[in-house]
Amino acid sequence: MFADDDPRLSHLLEGIVRLASGDLSSRIEVSDARDELDAIIMGTNLLAEDLQIIYEELEQRVQVRTQLLHEAHLEMQKMAMQDPLTGLANRSALIEALRTALDAGSATGEGPAILLMDLDAFKSINDSMGHTAGDQVLITVGERIRSAVRSTTDVVARLGGDEFAIVMPEASPDQAVIVGHRILAALKRPIEIPGRSVRCGASMGLSVGSAGQAPEDMLMEADVAMYASKAEGQNRLHRFEPALLLMRRLRSQLVDDLRAAIKTDGLMLHYQPVVELATGRIEGVEALVRWNHPTRGFIMPDEFIPLAEEAGLISELGLWVLRAAVHQLRDWIDDSLVDSRFSVRINISATDLQSLQFIEDVRNVLKETGVRPEQVVLELTEVAIVKGNELDRYSLGGLRGLGVGIEIDDFGTGYSSISYLRRLPVDRVKVDRSLISGLGTDPGQPELVAAVLQLVRACGLEAVWEGVETAEQAEILRGLGCLSAQGYYFSRPVPPEQIPLLLADRAESANP
Ligand code: C2E
Ligand code: CA
Ligand code: CA
Repeated sequence: MFADDDPRLSHLLEGIVRLASGDLSSRIEVSDARDELDAIIMGTNLLAEDLQIIYEELEQRVQVRTQLLHEAHLEMQKMAMQDPLTGLANRSALIEALRTALDAGSATGEGPAILLMDLDAFKSINDSMGHTAGDQVLITVGERIRSAVRSTTDVVARLGGDEFAIVMPEASPDQAVIVGHRILAALKRPIEIPGRSVRCGASMGLSVGSAGQAPEDMLMEADVAMYASKAEGQNRLHRFEPALLLMRRLRSQLVDDLRAAIKTDGLMLHYQPVVELATGRIEGVEALVRWNHPTRGFIMPDEFIPLAEEAGLISELGLWVLRAAVHQLRDWIDDSLVDSRFSVRINISATDLQSLQFIEDVRNVLKETGVRPEQVVLELTEVAIVKGNELDRYSLGGLRGLGVGIEIDDFGTGYSSISYLRRLPVDRVKVDRSLISGLGTDPGQPELVAAVLQLVRACGLEAVWEGVETAEQAEILRGLGCLSAQGYYFSRPVPPEQIPLLLADRAESANP
């Protein structure tokens, strides 16, 4: 037994207090007595030992967990800053990089440079070859950009879609231009995707930052410069200058005006006769849209059709043209100016072809006017048809099902293979004027025209020849057996009021 005042009792008590307060490594001293009290002390020490082991194990586990959580968090942060498709930085990361570079300032006093680029032909690649091919193109473009820049300092980002950007914290404007051209050159090489090889140019804008400038502001400047490049054609690089801002404002004003013009009949159609070569009879007309701008005067389609395409107004414009032209034909029929063989040709954009709504629009306007479908011919460019996807072919079939004529416009400028041409639901081609421009001057040209005619007919189609400017050209074409033609020689495109006069004149010369 042990006494009440045994000092080991208070040792035991203190020891338990130490353990309870978390000091699991402390042990209580055991005496030589080896009595009951010592047994309790030893038991307590053993418990402390177990506790310590359990505690250490737990602590280790918590540490591992914390580390894993930390890594996952970093990964998430990285992913939030990364474009998942290409592994490049994303927009937020780019803005951050730009902000850091702007804050740091460069040794030369010149701000960081940013190149913004947009692929020129990506949409049509994606539409015609599918998204997997499109993704492959984007990945390859990303790799090519990466290998054209300085990997230690420059940040390459994909901003979404087919837009890429490069931040160069330490490049002078001249160096940035060189890098830009190096990237453009790298993109000129064809990109290999399974079973195909494609080319995809790009347009670039450069902005050089200045102290205190906001990253978003630099990005906007690069964007403005990029649009200037795009407007000039493929594979260009423009540096931002304030005058471009003004141009952009004018352009967006023009887009607003065009939108209003479509809504308020500010557009008008001119009509150019298509003539039967053997008789001189006007067999139909082509509707060509014009814009009578309130302050700028007459604007030609080559100028505003691309604008309408870019601004997403082309479908509205196409619908306006379709309705105006078919209603005009209805009026001419009602006035007994034309018979049932007379047709109106209408130019259709590639976008129209892609919309199923357009088939409905054609159906509706035919129903509304009671015009026979054979009297309406839709002109589609070779490029729109050949580059088109399955949906386009479906739409083409749908249009054909309505009974309207379909003609390939600008034939000879695209890439149609002849075997392909045979399978398309079209009845006619309109041969581009470049093919006959040498008629009358180039002695070899008639032979070429004869060959093209033979080829077209071998495909079971007929040809209309456009761009006839002289009597000689008309005569050569007639002599070669060509049936129909169109061009300034017969008549320029004229307002609809002049068509009755032309019809009367031609009727006279056709039956003298
Ligand atoms: P396109 O369909 O090839 O139309 C023929 C163009 O050649 C017309 O120019 C016409 O005025 C011009 N042309 C006619 N005969 C001759 C000639 O003998 N010599 C020369 N050098 N040119 C001739 P325009 O009216 O300026 O139209 C240009 C293009 O704009 C058209 O080319 C067509 O692609 C597009 N376009 C015109 N109207 C429309 C429309 O309503 N919708 C759509 N989507 N595009 C249209
Ligand atoms: Ca045309
Ligand atoms: Ca044409």
